[in-house]
Amino acid sequence: MIQVDLKGQNAVVTGATRGIGFGIAKALSAAGAAVACIGTNAEKLSKSVDEINAAGGSAKAYICDVSKSDQVEAVSKQILEDFGGKVDILVNNAGITKDTLVRVMTDEQWDDVIAVNLRGPFLMTRAFVSAMRKKKYGRIINISSISGLIGNRGQANYSASKAGVIGFTRTVSKELANRNITVNSIAPGFIETDMTAVLDPVIVTEMKNRIPVGRFGSPDDIANAVLYFASPDSSFVTGQVIAIDGGMIM
Ligand code: NAD
Repeated sequence: MIQVDLKGQNAVVTGATRGIGFGIAKALSAAGAAVACIGTNAEKLSKSVDEINAAGGSAKAYICDVSKSDQVEAVSKQILEDFGGKVDILVNNAGITKDTLVRVMTDEQWDDVIAVNLRGPFLMTRAFVSAMRKKKYGRIINISSISGLIGNRGQANYSASKAGVIGFTRTVSKELANRNITVNSIAPGFIETDMTAVLDPVIVTEMKNRIPVGRFGSPDDIANAVLYFASPDSSFVTGQVIAIDGGMIM
């Protein structure tokens, strides 16, 4: 992994139970940060947090559905209390897919994906931004998708939510820049996780053929970019979106 020193810093990662979020939480912890891991499944989240702590980290589990205002408010209060009012890094990673063609997409499929993927980052950012402003320091990293940049058949809801995350990132970066708070977005390409494990093998092979580096990405590929944006040394970089996709959408 990229070497970054985050000792003494506190981080919050949503969707940290598995996949990319778990990879990010592990990487931030290995860099020295204390990590608040947010997820919805208590048993699985506690297993992931135990794994981070067994490796010498300092992680804590928090149950919260990021699309629910009251839950985000309660959990953010608790995290700020536990972390002495200081949260340096927020990674909005939690996300879901409910793929289908737009002509048969239900209201529920549309609303659920927008709620978790777009409302979630908004609620979480709003919840922690005052504490960051007070300390005049912050690193907010929003996980988008190349689907939000170039679109993807069957993902009208998901692409719209991820394009929204990019617009949200750019605007919030402008609002917070004078407080030494950077806001950036990472647009992963095809990363091997439970989310992509359910895809049709024919589509998976087609996808792989479209990746110039010739392999799928791993959560570590995304975590390395998070480490860069989370570092105090990336203070002149804000409002950016970087595709980590093996060259797929170049
Ligand atoms: P995943 O399904 O393996 O993990 C998603 C995590 O989010 C899980 O821990 C889940 O519990 C959590 N989560 C879901 N809904 C939640 C909610 N309402 N509140 C709190 N937590 C919730 O997915 P992943 O592949 O690790 O994806 C992580 C992020 O990366 C997502 O935002 C996804 O859209 C994005 N992404 C993934 C890929 C990929 O190829 N895997 C590509 C582009 C973008």
